[in-house]
Amino acid sequence: MSATLIDGKQVAAALRAQLAARVATLPYTPGLAVVLVGDDPASAVYVRSKDRAAAAAGIAASTIRLPADTSEAALLATIARLNADPAIDGILVQLPVPPQIRQVAVIEAIDPAKDVDGFHPLNVGRLHDGRPGLVPCTPLGVMRLLAHVGVSVRGARALVLGRSAIVGKPMAALLTNADATVTVAHSRTRDLAAECRRAELLVAAVGRAEMVRGDWVANQAVVIDVGINRLPDGRLVGDCATAECATHAAAITPVPGGVGPMTIACLLENTVAASVVRRAGLCPAPHQGSALDPAGA
Ligand code: NAP
Repeated sequence: MSATLIDGKQVAAALRAQLAARVATLPYTPGLAVVLVGDDPASAVYVRSKDRAAAAAGIAASTIRLPADTSEAALLATIARLNADPAIDGILVQLPVPPQIRQVAVIEAIDPAKDVDGFHPLNVGRLHDGRPGLVPCTPLGVMRLLAHVGVSVRGARALVLGRSAIVGKPMAALLTNADATVTVAHSRTRDLAAECRRAELLVAAVGRAEMVRGDWVANQAVVIDVGINRLPDGRLVGDCATAECATHAAAITPVPGGVGPMTIACLLENTVAASVVRRAGLCPAPHQGSALDPAGA
């Protein structure tokens, strides 16, 4: 039996269209500032896609490009200026930053109300506390995909493979807040395959090409593949061997075209939510209900 492929491109397009319709009703243009330090080609491509998607949703995106030898003080001064700019609703500093800049200093300098990446400790704390706040875009995108395909998270046995601050940990927190029973696995986990086989919902975020094999997947499980890995031949693959896993799973996200498109759509969602909440003087932004609804209903 073959799994349903979850079309992230289609779900992301629907979310972007919904956001564009919401933005059209706002009496202002939400502003997103993306700061790019250095000239890493992959980051530059990613920033360009963010710009295009933001413009299509009616969000004013500006990219601030700083040279690779920018000092930490200069970057923090740029962030302080954006924090104080009333036209800017969301600030994203493309990570990683060059080695002379402390990533943690950058993350903590961003106004939590404009922290559309959801990495500021205040937003991390709110998420782990189950309170409203801005949530990292990739795990938020996974939750949006699960909701779209009608996966019932409440009470499900979920396994999150990976414990990074960007994906694994916030993913586990979101699933816990949504009443899943969550196990977090990582590089020190004993018998990873057995842990995976117990999961009704498996989210893989390890950065290891096709590590999750078909016989690691329980019958009729839902598999969300966050991984993006480039093979020596140039092909992009996920953390799961998709064809093998699809013979066991009920549904699976492809790579590319699964979680990836949701990340940018959720960045736009966070920007709109941050703008509505900040400009109305509400505090803080919601993450569990629709972020388009400032009441978080
Ligand atoms: P990361 O910071 O490198 O974290 C990887 C996690 O996987 C760590 O917790 C690590 O365990 C665990 N791990 C590594 N090798 C393992 C192994 N052999 N067995 C079990 N666990 C292992 O990576 P990340 O930033 O979370 O990203 C993960 C993947 O998602 C990457 O492929 C990345 O490109 C992709 N990604 C995609 C999007 C998107 O938009 N689709 C966004 C972000 C990331 P330890 O903690 O024990 O080291």
